[in-house]
Amino acid sequence: MFGRVRELVTGKVTFDAATLDEIEDILIASDMGVDAALQVTEAVRRRVRGGDAAVGELDAVESAIRDEVVEILGGASANAADRLTSKPHIILVVGVNGTGKTTSVGKLAWMYQSMGHKVLLGAADTYRAAAIEQLGVWAERIGATLVHQRHGADPAAVAYDAVHAAQSRGADVALIDTAGRLHTKSNLMQELGKIRRAVQKVVPDAPHETLLVLDANTGQNGLAQAREFFSSVDVSGIFLAKLDGTAKGGIVIAIRRALEIPVHFVGVGEQLEDIEEFDAHSFAEALVARREEHES
Ligand code: GDP
Ligand code: MG
Repeated sequence: MFGRVRELVTGKVTFDAATLDEIEDILIASDMGVDAALQVTEAVRRRVRGGDAAVGELDAVESAIRDEVVEILGGASANAADRLTSKPHIILVVGVNGTGKTTSVGKLAWMYQSMGHKVLLGAADTYRAAAIEQLGVWAERIGATLVHQRHGADPAAVAYDAVHAAQSRGADVALIDTAGRLHTKSNLMQELGKIRRAVQKVVPDAPHETLLVLDANTGQNGLAQAREFFSSVDVSGIFLAKLDGTAKGGIVIAIRRALEIPVHFVGVGEQLEDIEEFDAHSFAEALVARREEHES
């Protein structure tokens, strides 16, 4: 994205309204959404006017974009390790079907184990036998404990068992995978409420985090799905999966702006280690750092 801004700005003699329009178009093309693009363009406008910028004021444009993106993303937030304030720390993972929930649970388990924490997984997606097996494969590979029941069992009962086991075995982190089915939305939402209450019977202030998994490729549609979750579940953060599948990282900005919930993690592949903790400052740096690639 910034390569295009740079080409545009360095060729200019004056910084006029047309230049700002073109910057706005480039921002929109990055998938950050029209509202965010307008907001960032406005920040550029203020910066170049206020700073008396004219020809080749690339630094002013660059820092205006970077600062406004950080502003939209809500600046720095506590990282995954800092958020582990309870033991066991219970994380509920929710989302619609196929967004990458089970894979993301595996990645999170891998990440926490790598940090030296003892992890337990709860297979509360009991609708699909494959989901239990899939989680079992990850658990085995990571060396985490898996708590499951048979296919068709009550998801709330599995969640209860998982949290209970996490407590009695001294696990540091318990991750609970859930089913996602958009077409039975109200049933699913009721079920999530039931899962939460089951978990709270064991640990009253749990779940300590509720992560909503979104597929980065679904764009505006993903946002619509997310809104439904927000109205019924207390979501604390986003896990944006499949960011490797889109060249348009701006979707992170669109999501943050629309939902006002921090993006905590991004998924960048199908393997366990393909997880990154999201950091607003590094993300904004990366947006403008592409300039170096274009220069060489
Ligand atoms: P669920 O139905 O929400 O539990 O989704 P799954 O975890 O089963 O994932 C659905 C598909 O998306 C699988 O083929 C995963 O390998 C794939 N997937 C999940 N996360 C990522 C990611 O970050 N990048 C890519 N490329 N694929 C992913
Ligand atoms: Mg799944």
